[in-house]
Amino acid sequence: MRQRFARLGILFLMLAGTWLADGSAAAQQSRSDSVLALVGGRLIDGFGGPPLENSVIVVRGNRVEAVGRQGEVAIPPSARVISTEGYTVLPGLMDMHVHLMLLGHGDYDHWDRTYRSKWRDVIMPIAARQLLLAGVTTVRDVGAPLEDILAVRDRINRGQIPGPRVFASGPFLQKTVPPLEADFRWAISGPEDARAKTKRLIDAGVDLIKVIDQDQMTLEELKAIVETAHAAGKHTVLHAHRAEEIRQGIRAGADCFEHTGLATQPGYPDDVLAMLRERNATLYWCPTIEGLYLYPYTVDQFPARLDDQRLKADLPPDIYEDVRRSLDHPERLPYFQLIRRRVPTLANKFAQLRTTGVTLITGTDSGIPMNFHFDSTWRELDTFVRLGMDPMDAIRAATFWPAKLLKRDDLGTIAPGKAADIIVVDGDPLRAMESLRHLVHVVKDGVVYK
Ligand SMILES: [Zn+2]
Repeated sequence: MRQRFARLGILFLMLAGTWLADGSAAAQQSRSDSVLALVGGRLIDGFGGPPLENSVIVVRGNRVEAVGRQGEVAIPPSARVISTEGYTVLPGLMDMHVHLMLLGHGDYDHWDRTYRSKWRDVIMPIAARQLLLAGVTTVRDVGAPLEDILAVRDRINRGQIPGPRVFASGPFLQKTVPPLEADFRWAISGPEDARAKTKRLIDAGVDLIKVIDQDQMTLEELKAIVETAHAAGKHTVLHAHRAEEIRQGIRAGADCFEHTGLATQPGYPDDVLAMLRERNATLYWCPTIEGLYLYPYTVDQFPARLDDQRLKADLPPDIYEDVRRSLDHPERLPYFQLIRRRVPTLANKFAQLRTTGVTLITGTDSGIPMNFHFDSTWRELDTFVRLGMDPMDAIRAATFWPAKLLKRDDLGTIAPGKAADIIVVDGDPLRAMESLRHLVHVVKDGVVYK
């Protein structure tokens, strides 16, 4: 049985190879002068204004050329016309916290040991394809072995494999590192070393710098990292697991915090909230909140989601079996032991963050146990709305604001001159965010992937 699975796995990879070759050809095409017109749907353009009914979007090559109403925008005769009638059209989603080296397996140690050698060529390409087909056209990968993630990012950017644009941090910088994880965590010791390691990452080509456990660093060490990153035009992303991590990060001038943090504590201390209010909109925060709600939802309400057919379809059979079996008893996994006590604190923490005026952006920790790449990003927007955010603001937290943080004004909105990253969904996300899971079309960089 196992041997048969292994052979099927090889067959899958061969088929995937064929498919990828086709994807590459399509990517080449978009560079030329090919014209695409998306016609008839309701457009939410990412700027936050009222939706545009009966919209027309003309795409030339990989850029948006014209946007307007039917009858007001000329559709070039050479255009390939895609009807979006009855659907909602939006900028491609931007998920600012994913892990392409993970596929939802329940046991990190087992995963690292068993699949480390397959991350670059098998695992990361599967994750990238899953995200793209879920309407995610841009991601930040925050923590992976340096050479692997940069190779996958570059293969995607060259059109060799399908996936979202990747902005990658490579390894985290932290104070001490467990020996088995030295691949994707680098230890720093002293300001000089902190500066040198940051520079090494930047010289290798990372897009941002990720720091964790910064409450164990001296302020000088952390400042050395942040200043080196800023001097190179890169932003810094820091964990917010503990109050002192947040304080230290703000003192050092960090740009973006990850997670809601503070474990089972009911909320953020007053002095932390005061610091956040002072930084206000110049500070970004990626709460990665849906992954926490996902556990009670999956276990108590909808265990069938673990049998989602996309999981089986996307993974080689042996890896599918392994992932699926690892989730047979979620309640036994160490990862979830505190989660039921954390979940009741989240609504207050989220509300506190909103009152400080920091800029909330969506990220999902996609890839962590039972958080599958094909089913993660829409849940973060859905959770934001359940916790009181206006749906349009939730959409902008996954489009407009991430583009600002990445200093990529050509992303996150649909207007003339912007990158042609466009999704078409069946339904009205302003009424039900779940409609974002019903992708009709996915266009990235002018290439129609779905
Ligand atoms: Zn993460």
